Amino acid sequence: MSLKSTDPKVFNAILKEAKRQNDNIELIASENFVTDEILDAQGSIMTNKYAEGYPGARWYGGCENVDIVESLAIERAKALFNAEHVNVQPHSGSQANMAVYFAALKPGDTVLAMDIACGGHLTHGHARNFSGTFFNIISYGVNKDSEMLDYDEILDLAKKHNPKMIIAGACAYPRIIDFKKFREICDKVGAMLLADIAHIAGLTIAGLHPNACKHAHFVTSTTHKTLRGPRSGIVMCKRQFAKSIDAMVFPGIQGGPLMHVIAAKAVAFKNAGTKEFREYQKHIVNNSKALADALMGKGYRLVSGGTDNHLMLIDLTEKELSGRDAASALDKAGITVNKNLIPYDEKTPAITSGIRLGTPAITTRGMKEKEMELIAELIDQALNNVNKAKVLSRVKKDVKRLTSKFPLYKDVIKRMTR
Ligand SMILES: *Cc1c(COP(=O)(O)O)cnc(C)c1O
Repeated sequence: MSLKSTDPKVFNAILKEAKRQNDNIELIASENFVTDEILDAQGSIMTNKYAEGYPGARWYGGCENVDIVESLAIERAKALFNAEHVNVQPHSGSQANMAVYFAALKPGDTVLAMDIACGGHLTHGHARNFSGTFFNIISYGVNKDSEMLDYDEILDLAKKHNPKMIIAGACAYPRIIDFKKFREICDKVGAMLLADIAHIAGLTIAGLHPNACKHAHFVTSTTHKTLRGPRSGIVMCKRQFAKSIDAMVFPGIQGGPLMHVIAAKAVAFKNAGTKEFREYQKHIVNNSKALADALMGKGYRLVSGGTDNHLMLIDLTEKELSGRDAASALDKAGITVNKNLIPYDEKTPAITSGIRLGTPAITTRGMKEKEMELIAELIDQALNNVNKAKVLSRVKKDVKRLTSKFPLYKDVIKRMTR
């Protein structure tokens, strides 16, 4: 029996989602489109297998095949990042961060992390996240003028608060992060360094961003953003923390690992070692710069005046538009973004003064600088006509014309509509 006949409601939602991904311009900086090989591995029968423990030391029988994929994933990730130890079992980026917090700290310990309003992640100390509940979080922001990290200010905060751990990493920071400087600050105050490279893992592998594994005691990442693997996480660390990280991931905070996802991670890591992948990452950054330049050319103010990586933040204050209204208008035009706080935002997190744009997904489709200029033009038309349904639907037609030239999941859609 097929899903189509047994559960048409779910089947049709999946089909419509495939069409949505194909039709729209996806600019959410944390999203990407996986390959058919990733779908094959992640949709495989490895989902059936319980494998609590680690390769060669499991609690269940019959683990010889899942041991192969987990060992491959570990070895490949170690080579990609030049990491001393890798745990590939975290179910997500948040779980990876939780493993490090609980392995390295005690509840109540002080952590210095990036302010969420300036680009930090929920797990970097949001009051309603485990990180903000169990630990004493002190936040650093960005310099008010440059809107970039201010290492002198971070050092001052570190000296004042004596954190046990400092977190470097962000989900909405368009510039290079200097992990070496972060480590120097840590050494001055006797803190451990956690680098969260969830967004920039792919750029790191391609040599387009400094590699945190050189400097940090712990490095966490997702595998589904620029890395373009399955939705998941990993923890990397220096050798001396290997045992405590492994024990914290299992049995500390997780039960059985998702072996189908670990198989897909192994596939993603193999792909990330290729020349094509490094070229892809270069195109992401080139496209990001081209999109940023085109938007600035149309008078948009970008936070920090541009981008060094795969994402940018538009400050819409001068356009007298909120991030929420901008994102909603763009959605109607088939352009998918997220509203985002900008540094020192005067609006609330539900409204915001900005939107975040990223190029990993559209670059996967094969779009280049020429298309970035067109996308900037379409964004501009939509944002100048947020209340004009007619204009937005005309822009949506242009969006569809563009995306149809860069087909996505053609075979998936064909198979489903047969
Ligand atoms: C996306 C992200 C995470 C968390 O990833 P999930 O898989 O969604 O839990 C953690 N840290 C940073 C900096 C991120 O951007």
